[in-house]
Amino acid sequence: AVMQAVKIGDNSVYGQLTQELKDDERNSPLKLKLKGLAEQISKFGYAGGVLIAVAVMLHKIYLAGSFAAYFADMTTVIADLVQAVILAIIIIVMAVPEGLPLMIAIVSSLNMRKMLHDHVLVRKLVGIETAGSLNLLFTDKTGTITKGQLEVVRFLTGDLQEITDFTSLPARLKELTCQQILINTSSTVTDGKIVGGNMTEAALNNYVGTYRLPQLPQRQRFIPFNSANKYSWAQVAPADGGAAYCLIKGAPEKLLQATDWYWSKDGSRLPLTDEMKAALDNRMLELAGQAIRMLALCTYEGVPADNLPDKGLTLAGVVAIRDDVRPEAVEAIKAVQQAGVQVVMITGDRKETAVAIAKDAGLLQSAEDVVWTSDELAQMSDDEVKAKLTHLRVVARALPMDKSRLVRLAQELNLVTGMTGDGVNDSPALKKADVGFAMGSGTEVAKEAGDIVIMDDNFLSIKQAILYGRTIYNSICKFIVFQLTINFSAVAINFIAPFINIDEPLTITQILWINLVMDTLAALAFGGEPALAQYLREAPKRRSAPLVSQKMLTSVIVSGLYMTIVGIAFYKSAWVDHLFRDADNHIYTYTGFFCAYIFMAVANGFNVRTDGLNLLKNISLNKGFLQVMALIVAIQVLLTFVGGRVLRTTALNAHEWGVVVLFGASIIVVDLLRKLISSR
Ligand code: ADP
Ligand code: MG
Repeated sequence: AVMQAVKIGDNSVYGQLTQELKDDERNSPLKLKLKGLAEQISKFGYAGGVLIAVAVMLHKIYLAGSFAAYFADMTTVIADLVQAVILAIIIIVMAVPEGLPLMIAIVSSLNMRKMLHDHVLVRKLVGIETAGSLNLLFTDKTGTITKGQLEVVRFLTGDLQEITDFTSLPARLKELTCQQILINTSSTVTDGKIVGGNMTEAALNNYVGTYRLPQLPQRQRFIPFNSANKYSWAQVAPADGGAAYCLIKGAPEKLLQATDWYWSKDGSRLPLTDEMKAALDNRMLELAGQAIRMLALCTYEGVPADNLPDKGLTLAGVVAIRDDVRPEAVEAIKAVQQAGVQVVMITGDRKETAVAIAKDAGLLQSAEDVVWTSDELAQMSDDEVKAKLTHLRVVARALPMDKSRLVRLAQELNLVTGMTGDGVNDSPALKKADVGFAMGSGTEVAKEAGDIVIMDDNFLSIKQAILYGRTIYNSICKFIVFQLTINFSAVAINFIAPFINIDEPLTITQILWINLVMDTLAALAFGGEPALAQYLREAPKRRSAPLVSQKMLTSVIVSGLYMTIVGIAFYKSAWVDHLFRDADNHIYTYTGFFCAYIFMAVANGFNVRTDGLNLLKNISLNKGFLQVMALIVAIQVLLTFVGGRVLRTTALNAHEWGVVVLFGASIIVVDLLRKLISSR
């Protein structure tokens, strides 16, 4: 073969698309919220750090008795000042949520692996995060909601005879149908396998089976099917040197208006009268009502000026093709709708077929549901479309540009919008949507434009993608509550300490270890949180909704305050002090507090995993959590032996460990009470 390259690299369609994709770095709604939150936490940390440093200095002055007395010895002042500044820096280090990016990476990659099992390939991370916040999903029909195993169930001739088997067709019709599928097609059959073409062409191939003509005409020109034209066209020259003619196959609405003749049983061309057309239309309407799609097979004698002449076509027949709704798609659509996501089916089929399938799929239920054809859509202004968009369920006879327009309008309404697509001309819509779902059977260009590839084309997998998106969101929320509780209490304890005469409630090295627990280790623990079906029963989060909900905030404040109070009790309550052995420097009590603090944090990890009262719910689905928490406890115990002066720790006895464990576990009671009260 000799090929001429007309455009290469960046100038090709593919190249331009990649180029466009490059410039465009969208942020997922979740990322934007996280960024906002991280800024707030950091501010809190900076303010906390500075205030704590000031408070510590004031405390020192207070201890010295007066300004003059304190500043008399500058070496102590400088030493204290350095100490205070270091403390401030450590507080800031702790407050800054440096574990968040790590958490996002871990949670995404862990979930991506699971998603691959569910036939969802995530190409861009933002896609999966955004899928969780989806408000509106435009989905393809063929192969996604339906099985995509198209089957020709009927052949209608121009004079309205209905034939089921290909082998029972009259000779001329057999010949023409065979030519259509061997010449006017993008598919070929190699070793009995159908390669290329779309599902409709595969159905025709199966219909014709192994039947072959002794001689095929020569193809001279060919326009493949695309969903904007809705037909394919081939100009052929007979092998015996006769006059060239055309084979045209496509949507009947498009072809029949240009059809004036039909091929009769005996192989002659007879006029197709208006009555015959009307009768054919009626029959097609009936079949469409049974969720059957239609494809007209026509010829044109001679070579037309236009690819699709506006008259003079001869009808060989209309094939009726059935494509059943996937049973699992019905369930999945229901689940996605329950998740608060509006599902709109977009199809190139005629309205009646689309409506019948939408009903089977459970998409059309109430009288308010709207079905539009592409033409109706084109006649409406943007505002009119927007006003009714929430009731839209089906778009029939859709053109690729309808997809782009709908995505644009939905986004103008501030809806997080998903779009599925497979064709080259779906790419702009895929790219524009907040989440582009490309179909695995689709073109490479579509896959390049999409964020997520649904490898098995199945709607069920789209549901899974939404579920995993929400899992990521929820896991991050759990992590944030866990982290903020520690953050809040540690800052609070350090801030209050100087005012009530506590020197160093937590040492700098202790804070660094706490920071490691709440950031890195917690990210590992919460990253593996399982995808729970309950996430799909919640409404999608609004784009503008804050990441930290009222509930999360309450949890942070209640648990954080409790941890602070326990901290103060360890330093100020004689009763608590008596639970530990006596020592001049209170080393047993202080070690006890350090351990109790970490244990409370660990116990609180169990608290924030679930909204319910059963803290061990689904724990077997996240073994990593148990492992990380066990590791933290083990290290903490070890630290009491080896921490020495660096960590201000010492070995505790069994009785003291008992006290520490009880204090650690007490936060569970506190949080259970909060859950009980807030659920009332
Ligand atoms: P969908 O994306 O909903 O499956 P398509 O755009 O693929 O819809 O098809 C729309 C209509 O175009 C079909 O109802 C059929 O009449 C016609 N059509 C589909 N595939 C082909 C093809 N390969 N050649 C000619 N016409 C086709
Ligand atoms: Mg399509």
